[in-house]
Amino acid sequence: MTPVLEIRDLSVDYGQGEGAVHAVSSVNLVLNRGEVLGLAGESGSGKSTLAYAMTRLLPPPGIITGGEVLHHGRDKPAPVDVLGLSPKQLRSFRWNDIAIVFQGAMNSLNPVSTVASQLEDIYRAHRPEMSRAQRTKRSAELLRLVGISADRLGSYPHQLSGGMRQRVMIAMALALDPEIIIMDEPTTALDVVMQRQILEQMMRLREELGFSVLFITHDISLLVEFSDRIAIMYAGRIVEQAASEDMYRASSHPYSKGLLGSFPALHGPRRPLTGIPGSPPDMRSVPSGCPFHPRCPSAFDVCEREIPVLEKLSGTNGDSSRSVACWLNTPSLSGHPGVGAT
Ligand code: SF4
Ligand code: MG
Repeated sequence: MTPVLEIRDLSVDYGQGEGAVHAVSSVNLVLNRGEVLGLAGESGSGKSTLAYAMTRLLPPPGIITGGEVLHHGRDKPAPVDVLGLSPKQLRSFRWNDIAIVFQGAMNSLNPVSTVASQLEDIYRAHRPEMSRAQRTKRSAELLRLVGISADRLGSYPHQLSGGMRQRVMIAMALALDPEIIIMDEPTTALDVVMQRQILEQMMRLREELGFSVLFITHDISLLVEFSDRIAIMYAGRIVEQAASEDMYRASSHPYSKGLLGSFPALHGPRRPLTGIPGSPPDMRSVPSGCPFHPRCPSAFDVCEREIPVLEKLSGTNGDSSRSVACWLNTPSLSGHPGVGAT
């Protein structure tokens, strides 16, 4: 697998000095070419902050305090650090290489502009060599690609259903054939049937066009169904990463177990819904040590003092791609055989 985007040790604060909130702490994450990487976690866990930071769209008082975001471009000889791009390079990177579909399409579309002119604006800005006729033709193709008839080109956003607006957002994201699409809670405002339709279509487009997807949601059942791999965040850190199947069959981190235990099984026998006691931490005063310790049913003495690092789990049923940040994984400390042991 070849990486297309590599996040290294990325940290983001809101505010500075004593009162700074560490929204994202030393996150390492790799998005491979052509894959769907799911990012899960309760609200406030840092998922969206991470997406904003890696595209340099972080609103103030958000500050990137460290790390790199390496883009391994299709035709580039060496990776480029997105955090070092000039404003001009960044504009080109954002539409040509990476595009974002945010939640709540109504707020992202211009209410006084037709679908056609919003699509064509992208071409006017980024493909000035295209003729008017080419822009119109391409815009109609894009709409068809996302399952909307081309006679909707003249519609204003308020004349479209919520699902159609979200599809228009996807069409806009696809306009310049980017390598990476970030979907941040792309379908939360829609009903369940519509959510599924849109995601299924997105996955078909991915097969056809070959882009990679970073799919962010708090809905773990959608993630399990649509992602190849899943990373789980808690209090600004990745606590577990594994292939989607492995995560679903046997998650290792107590928090992942809680998240996965809080939705009904997709296949196979029914299992009891367990959920997670307590609520996500106040990011202004994150618990010491493992931030999950006040809610963790398996916490022991060291958990309160030391922050566990994300480490590859070895020797677990040939599943070498799993990494977990939990002290249970250090048998010498926990007296426990290790979270991956079966
Ligand atoms: Fe629970 Fe300790 Fe593991 Fe944190 S490190 S998840 S508190 S067992
Ligand atoms: Mg969010």
